[in-house]
Amino acid sequence: MFEHLTDQPADKILALMSAYKADPREQKIDLGVGVYKDADGNTPIMRAVKAAEARLLESQTTKSYTALAGDPGFADAMIDLVLADTLPRDRVAAVATPGGTGAVRQAFEMIGMASPEATIWVSDPTWPNHLSILKHLDAKTRSYRYFDSETRSVDMAGMMADLAEAQPGDVVLLHGCCHNPTGANPSPEQWDEIVATLKARHLVPMIDLAYQGFGDGLDADAAATRLIAGALDEVIIAASCSKNFGIYRERTGILMAIGRDVPQTQKAQGTLAYLNRQNYSFPPDHGARVVTTILTDAELRADWQAELEEVRTGMLRLREALAAELKRLSNSDRFDFLAQHRGMFSRLGATPEQVAKLRDDNGIYMVGDSRMNIAGLNDRTIPVLAQAIVDAGV
Ligand code: PMP
Repeated sequence: MFEHLTDQPADKILALMSAYKADPREQKIDLGVGVYKDADGNTPIMRAVKAAEARLLESQTTKSYTALAGDPGFADAMIDLVLADTLPRDRVAAVATPGGTGAVRQAFEMIGMASPEATIWVSDPTWPNHLSILKHLDAKTRSYRYFDSETRSVDMAGMMADLAEAQPGDVVLLHGCCHNPTGANPSPEQWDEIVATLKARHLVPMIDLAYQGFGDGLDADAAATRLIAGALDEVIIAASCSKNFGIYRERTGILMAIGRDVPQTQKAQGTLAYLNRQNYSFPPDHGARVVTTILTDAELRADWQAELEEVRTGMLRLREALAAELKRLSNSDRFDFLAQHRGMFSRLGATPEQVAKLRDDNGIYMVGDSRMNIAGLNDRTIPVLAQAIVDAGV
């Protein structure tokens, strides 16, 4: 039977990682894969995570199954982190999932069960895995303009014009903060406009929140999600703990479904548990329990927030330093957008040829669409990158 299988397209980012590893040049710079790295290029385990794991090792007495929805304490803690007091708890259905990807996948499946005719609108560009999962599920998908390649900011007029074609009941996938891959995000006023459009056109927002705490702070990064959750009857939220807790390989995420009333929320809850059952039965627990331990302990939570804040402000400082160096070298302010973008990524706006030139001439690895992982930089590499960008004629 396997002879009928066809070759699947390789994941471009993983291919880039391999090419970087194989490059013998010592001065090479990795701005590819979306993992946070400190100034030495390490992805450390956060202090609070280590402490929570030590506590669990001491106190955990069983590894028996949890519940299909995962540990209820995890759902409570994550709903509080993402939504604070936006809604009564009984309007939010939630299940633990294997990472944010698991949440995204289950969300698409739930949409397919609830509303098979709905089109799912995605930003152009978006995280490539959104498109690949949608294609795999054969979901009806359309894209809306999002990124203005001249200003490297949100193309609000294009987005609004495209969403004007969405039909009532269609789903609009939004990045709650720190848009991947562009780094460009709507302003608070633009979010208001987006909410007004969603309401007026009876669209269902699905928010992918993978970088809460990486942009402007934990609450600021959840502000758009809270605004939308408070304003619309039905909202889907897929949140990841991979980045903000640095627990990538533990596969920790949550899918939330806000219903218009309690009975509908309960229906959604049953469906989410059902989907967990069909796909993998019980969701992974270790990462979720680490997160819950941290969020429910004042001391661990404060330490986690302090370390996350260092990560966030460190990336902001790198952004500002890169923008300043490019201003100096190019004698123009055309790279100022780098300081305005938020999160781990910025789309530089280089052509594929320029991206290839940066790799071949300078050993600088970024994704083909010129997405750079800002956390891959440090004080030594910023001047090198800036000079190479100017030399490549970006
Ligand atoms: N959504 C977006 C936009 C992402 O960038 C990521 C991480 N690359 C995820 C979801 C999911 O991440 P994970 O499955 O590792 O939690």
